[in-house]
Amino acid sequence: MRSWRWYLSRVMRLFLRWFRLCPQRGRRKRQSRVRDLWNYWKVIMKSLYFNVLNNSDTVLDCAFEPIYWLVDNLTRWFGVVFVSLVIALTSSVVIIVYLCVLPIIFSTYPFHWILWHLCYGHWNLLMVVFFYYKATTTHPGFPPQEKSDIPTVTICKKCIVPKPARTHHCSICNRCILKMDHHCPWLNNCVGHFNHRYFFSFCLYMSMGCIYCSISVKDMFLDAYNAIESGRYMGVHAQGEVITDVGLIYSLLPPGDTPGQSYFQTPPPTFTHQERMVHKSLIYLWVLTSSVAVALGGLTLWHALLITRGETSVERHINHKERKRLKLKGKLFRNPYHHGKLNNWKVFLGVQKQSHWLTRVLLPSSHAPHGDGLTWDSPAYRNNTMAI
Ligand SMILES: [Zn+2]
Ligand SMILES: [Zn+2]
Repeated sequence: MRSWRWYLSRVMRLFLRWFRLCPQRGRRKRQSRVRDLWNYWKVIMKSLYFNVLNNSDTVLDCAFEPIYWLVDNLTRWFGVVFVSLVIALTSSVVIIVYLCVLPIIFSTYPFHWILWHLCYGHWNLLMVVFFYYKATTTHPGFPPQEKSDIPTVTICKKCIVPKPARTHHCSICNRCILKMDHHCPWLNNCVGHFNHRYFFSFCLYMSMGCIYCSISVKDMFLDAYNAIESGRYMGVHAQGEVITDVGLIYSLLPPGDTPGQSYFQTPPPTFTHQERMVHKSLIYLWVLTSSVAVALGGLTLWHALLITRGETSVERHINHKERKRLKLKGKLFRNPYHHGKLNNWKVFLGVQKQSHWLTRVLLPSSHAPHGDGLTWDSPAYRNNTMAI
């Protein structure tokens, strides 16, 4: 049996030993913490720029990242403005046609031409309105966010979710889109698997409508243009008062421009305020529809070419690169989603029997596209002899 003094001395010795070692332990701890922080900082810094695939493209992408960010945000916020502009311009064309063009057609054209313009014009307008509404309001299709059994090609670096085949990330919508074609600011929506047909049909019918308006209104436009030009040369005041003073007419003309004798022999035409408004409206209508017909017609032809080849706009670039890469190796690239020119169109438009060309293409139809956009099995007509 030991005495309490022995126990006390042991406790005191232990305490003194701990007290002596304390500063050393604290220093070691601090050193270890600083080392950990330094290692952590190095990992963070390396994670910002380290990439085994680093090349000039990656560096350029990083350098232009602020510009991409700005463009993406502007496109996102200006989407509503662009959609409003499409609605406002289309409405203005329709109002001018109803108020200015149709009265002229009713009063001057034979019956069969009146019937043609009424039928074709309203059918075209119905198709444009229907497909624009569907293209803007239908979601393009998104891959599932949770784990699933669908076959995936890769992982999206931004969404951190598996990407099925033909899926790409849209930096403006900030999410992955099934069979992504492009982000359209005029729709304020991405064009993907579920609204690709609506987008193309809208472009097609809008182009057809603009070409139709441009051709139909051409003569009226020339008359209106000549009327405005002659009115200006005749020196019609803004208030509608005709200037009869020859000296004043000369003073109003541009330098070096001399009017012929006919200007003074024939009475100058006078137009009411309403007629002048009609002339200006017809000129606006023809210029607008002709410009859109050229621009949108070109875009529609480009998309028609892509559909014929079974490609989206994104795949066009990827396939082009792949084609060149394989060509250097002496190999031939084959697009796995190309089922033959006609069959590509049938798959795209959802035409499964002859009557569908009328009910699904020439009339408004909201049928779903072929497949779910996640898996890409060959359609039934793949083995058709039409396939190339
Ligand atoms: Zn993504
Ligand atoms: Zn988008």
